[in-house]
Amino acid sequence: METIRIKIKSALGELSCEEEQGLRQAGELIKKGGLVAFPTETVYGLGGDALNPDSSRKIYAAKGRPSDNPLIIHISRFADIHRIVDQLPEAAVKIADAFWPGPLTMILPKADIVPRETTGGLRTVAVRFPSHPVARKLIAYSGGYIAAPSANLSGKPSPTSAKYVCEDMDGRIDMIIDGGEVGIGLESTIIDLTVEPPRILRPGYVTQEMLDRVLGKVDIDVTIIDPDSGQAPKAPGMKYRHYAPKGSLTIVEGAAEQTAAYINEMAAADRAAGRKSGVIGTTEVLEQYRTDVVKCIGSRGDEEEIARNLFTVLRQMDDEGVESIYSESFSEKGLGQAIMNRLLKAAGHRVVHLPGRPNAQGWNRNRMEP
Ligand code: AMP
Ligand code: MG
Repeated sequence: METIRIKIKSALGELSCEEEQGLRQAGELIKKGGLVAFPTETVYGLGGDALNPDSSRKIYAAKGRPSDNPLIIHISRFADIHRIVDQLPEAAVKIADAFWPGPLTMILPKADIVPRETTGGLRTVAVRFPSHPVARKLIAYSGGYIAAPSANLSGKPSPTSAKYVCEDMDGRIDMIIDGGEVGIGLESTIIDLTVEPPRILRPGYVTQEMLDRVLGKVDIDVTIIDPDSGQAPKAPGMKYRHYAPKGSLTIVEGAAEQTAAYINEMAAADRAAGRKSGVIGTTEVLEQYRTDVVKCIGSRGDEEEIARNLFTVLRQMDDEGVESIYSESFSEKGLGQAIMNRLLKAAGHRVVHLPGRPNAQGWNRNRMEP
């Protein structure tokens, strides 16, 4: 299949006639059962008609995604939610008021019109109302309901630019809309509103603290904070290995100087063994690293920058053929909870805990002694 590629330069402003025409064409493709990758404020999505079971099947096939891992339905107006959910609890209206349009997904009881293919066989449906103007226009032109997972091959880091969408999806889907780099860089927060109190199934840009403020108290799925709990995650997709680069990733937790010294020692051993090494480090510590490849994830003082760069630096490690990747560790407060959730999954929970500084939360996550 030949994949059409269009560019939207004016992503946040007025669209040119040609861009508008391109989005209309994309909408038509989706209505006819085709697949289109498009930018959102979180990561690039791979969209198909959410109410067409064949489109959902095609999405699973294009990604190589297990079909028990449900898709999120994207809408472009709040009012459109009524058609796809069976009930709208008051909590849903409250969080929609506070966070929509934006990087938040709600799990609600599904209406009959939503095919089981889209929800991975579940009776619930995941709904998101994104803020990205290109995404919203595309959804409207496609008939109002786009099922869209992240536009990467299953298991790889989510794409934060069209370049990485192309790498994974060229020849597998009908169209890629290039809207430049995304703003947030991590997937939406998922909150389950079918349980009381509501429960976070995947941390994201909208943090637990922000949700607590609107809803009173929310819970968090135990598997997010304690991967050793032995329980299955409530969001089926969270059980799969995810976001993983090709090289083996190890997170190193400790004071800055000690972390750099440890990583440099490991890199020397890698070099001796003929392995290419790389580090994911922060601006403040970057100069101290002696690995073959050094990638800056941002400043320790700017969590949003770290979130935005995380998937990009993981992909860059693949681009440069790095075999042994090391990363600094981050605090798990606020947005840090989402950052560490993705980083830990990418590392398959391989963490080296250097002595001298306690793990911030005291959780035991498959600790390895250095
Ligand atoms: P992605 O499409 O890559 O952003 O992943 C979507 C995530 O939403 C996966 O982890 C899914 O398991 C989760 N999800 C989607 N629908 C539901 C649902 N009805 N109940 C629980 N989790 C869901
Ligand atoms: Mg994904």
